[in-house]
Amino acid sequence: MVAIGSGNGLSESELTAMGGVASRMQTSGELTGIFGKLVFSEEVQRQKLPSTVFKSLRDTIRSGKPLDSGIVDTIAAVMRDWAVDNGATHFSHWFQPMTGNTAEKHDCFITPIGGGRSLDKFSGVELVRGEPDASSFPSGGLRATFEARGYTAWDPTSPAFILRHSRGATLVIPTIFVSWSGEALDKKTPLLRSIRAVNEQALRILRLFGDTTTRRVEVTMGAEQEYFLVDRRLAALRPDLLVTGRTLFGAKPPKGQELDDNYFGAIPERVLAFMTELEYELLLLGVPVKTRHNEAAPAQFELAPMFETANLATDHQMLVMQLLRTVASRHGFLCLLHEKPFAGVNGSGKHNNWSLMTDDGENLFEPGETPESNAQFLVFCAAAMRAVHRYGNLLRMSVCGAGNDHRLGASEAPPAIMSIFLGRALDEIFEHLADNEKKPHFRAEPIEIGISEFPTLSRHDSDRNRTAPFAFTGNKFEFRAVGSSQNPAGSTTVLNTIMAESLDHFATRLESEVAAGREFRAAVHDLLVESAKEDLPILYSGDCYADYWKMESARRGLPNVVSSADCLPHVNSKSSISLFTKYGVYSEAELNSRFEIIAEGYISIVRIEAASAIEIAGTMILQAALRYKKELQAAASTELQLELVKELDDLIDRLIGRLRNLKTLSNFRDEWTTQQQADHCRAVLLPAISALRQVVDALEGVVDDELWPLPTYTELLFSR
Ligand SMILES: [Mg+2]
Repeated sequence: MVAIGSGNGLSESELTAMGGVASRMQTSGELTGIFGKLVFSEEVQRQKLPSTVFKSLRDTIRSGKPLDSGIVDTIAAVMRDWAVDNGATHFSHWFQPMTGNTAEKHDCFITPIGGGRSLDKFSGVELVRGEPDASSFPSGGLRATFEARGYTAWDPTSPAFILRHSRGATLVIPTIFVSWSGEALDKKTPLLRSIRAVNEQALRILRLFGDTTTRRVEVTMGAEQEYFLVDRRLAALRPDLLVTGRTLFGAKPPKGQELDDNYFGAIPERVLAFMTELEYELLLLGVPVKTRHNEAAPAQFELAPMFETANLATDHQMLVMQLLRTVASRHGFLCLLHEKPFAGVNGSGKHNNWSLMTDDGENLFEPGETPESNAQFLVFCAAAMRAVHRYGNLLRMSVCGAGNDHRLGASEAPPAIMSIFLGRALDEIFEHLADNEKKPHFRAEPIEIGISEFPTLSRHDSDRNRTAPFAFTGNKFEFRAVGSSQNPAGSTTVLNTIMAESLDHFATRLESEVAAGREFRAAVHDLLVESAKEDLPILYSGDCYADYWKMESARRGLPNVVSSADCLPHVNSKSSISLFTKYGVYSEAELNSRFEIIAEGYISIVRIEAASAIEIAGTMILQAALRYKKELQAAASTELQLELVKELDDLIDRLIGRLRNLKTLSNFRDEWTTQQQADHCRAVLLPAISALRQVVDALEGVVDDELWPLPTYTELLFSR
């Protein structure tokens, strides 16, 4: 048992002081009017900007037209005044480099101009462009250090906002981050490019269906965030949690989640105080947080927002992760966003709810009211099937990461095999299309499209299958393989691009058939039939955790890429390069750089875990075990007691052996390629860390609790 002394984490008075922000909203009804209050929103823009400037800015935001450089000084001046009125002293370009986090550098609004005077200004140039030194961000070789310049460029489609802290506030300007030659150094630039690509291709399909009014197809996204909260004072005594975000050791506690008593259970009071403050802060920033609940594992929780356009939703998701961490620490918690902080209980995911929507609000994955709109809906569904079937490897690659590997494939998260769950009704429609003999079981009145009969599609006609990685949930797809710590931009970028490719393929075929005089509905019918025949193997409605599915999916030729090390070759494979360059989402050089960045990220994480395991086992566990052995030896007087000493001795010897082994295996050869290093991590280092863990966890069950140096799973998971 570890005693929580003072000096670990925060004192009670510090906690109270930092909780001051939350105390402002203790009274009910205070939520009214706070939504988006700290956002330079469309409404604020309308009120504060001259009307011609407002109109020009909105045109840029809506149509993607280049920003009129003549108006940026006016926007900057208005934005600055608004920010200062809201307490801001600094401004910051805010971007999403390849670290997986966000980056910011604050500049004061005040500029000294000599003679003891200062100028109080914020120019259009400062709003539009920043020039952070890019040399300390991962670039994967895109940029040599001597040309280290990177540029941040204002993204007007995501509104600026004000981030408060205990002593003031900062005006935050969402930006993209590119090299001097325009190559993406961030996660947002490719996302924006992929949104443009899917918009172009989806519009072609809509035009074929006679839609002449839609100007733009937007990607919508909503990311559900799972996380753990542990007491900061206990976490401070776990170097593994502090350094790697997960517990490298820890015996299975007597109680885990066997009783299923945590999911949707009553939220503990201290956690609720944290959630209340978190949501208050997020609502001020215009983040549409909607639901909160206990998750399946003890100390695990979930927050879910409403969907928004993918660009904004991504920025908001990054804010959610940032604020989860900072607000948790005000409440004496450490928030763990790692995919698998604790062995033996569920890990955390981030379900990416993805859909396509026209600018007048028609959801393209919503079954329609008429035969024509149903046919259009089926074309979009078929495109999604084709996309996941053809590019499952890229989808798997988009969620790779050392942390997520622990989760995918365990019986809590979707497996690494990409498949689609459509629900019984849609399954049967595509089965019927593929094989005319296979009549759907529907009793509903059939409706006609083209020359084939279709049953009426009822809205939200889908069951929930929690085991499928890519599931249709009535009017959107839910991609469940995304890891809790990951920026959802990566998976959304891949989804958009593979969807763009399928829509392009369909549109090209339909356009040429129509041009050749073919009746459109007949052309659509044939397309759906062929597509169903081709892509039916991607549909699976059974239990994706079952061993049967491993065999069946292999029979269907679906890849099962269990480890991130094995995902790496897909990052810049031939088919990846040809796909992403065709739609202008990544250049070949960018994909090669992403390979290096993703691989190095994976390798570094595993090496840090190995080093951390060696340090803890060598300097904490071994010492505790030896101390206990001394006590036990001195006390043992009977044969049975001496047997205990012998058993302990064996464990200690095994600990020393495995520790030495891990140390040896942690040496990398200079001549190894990046891929060889990653393979070594997967095949050698990770198993050696697990082997060391086995002995440490066994020792935890033997060594005197008073001497055990690490807080146990019971203490971490059940201290509320
Ligand atoms: Mg959940």
